[in-house]
Amino acid sequence: MTATLSKLIWLAFGIIWFVLRLRPGHRSRQTPVRYSGRGAREFALLGASLTGLGIVPGVYLAIHFPRFADYPVVPVLSYLGIAAYCACLWLFHRTHRDLGHNWSVSLDLRERHTLVTTGVYALVRHPMYTGFWLMALAQVLLLPNWIAGPAGLVGFGILFFGRVWREEEMMLTAFGDEYRSYMRRTSRVIPWIF
Ligand code: SAH
Repeated sequence: MTATLSKLIWLAFGIIWFVLRLRPGHRSRQTPVRYSGRGAREFALLGASLTGLGIVPGVYLAIHFPRFADYPVVPVLSYLGIAAYCACLWLFHRTHRDLGHNWSVSLDLRERHTLVTTGVYALVRHPMYTGFWLMALAQVLLLPNWIAGPAGLVGFGILFFGRVWREEEMMLTAFGDEYRSYMRRTSRVIPWIF
């Protein structure tokens, strides 16, 4: 395993992830929104996540900046990164299938929005965010650079901690006791732990 190969693997997984999201994105745009929690705050949170998971590592791959923060590739870490990204892609595939037309890139409630509590949603309330944590972890493991690697954890961490409680409040307002009881029997991102 070389540094270049490890970086190219990260890029290839990123492209697969992007392609996986094209169809759900198209479908969700066709379903009208009946309530939206979007605004400057959501815009900033999405920007932080995009910067950490896309722009910083993208610049690193394109122009090798910041080169001074490189460290030698550790093959076993790259292999663990591949495993983490595979788990991430599997979770994205499952969560999109389970959420169907209810999915949004931001905080929206769509027409005929239903509360999904089956499939991977039977285990955790935010399996798609579990997928993003795995993607951020894979970035650390695949990119041998002290800045470009952890940037995804920071960027997505800002989105996650800035959004998850607002999302749960929105779901509580929309679904009341149904969501309250769903919260009692599930964890947020890691089954039985957190
Ligand atoms: N936080 C979830 C979903 C992310 S997509 C996850 O990590 O899997 C964000 C949108 O999903 C939100 O706008 C919300 O309307 C919707 N959503 C979140 N949880 C949901 C659920 N259990 N059932 C239906 N829609 C849900």
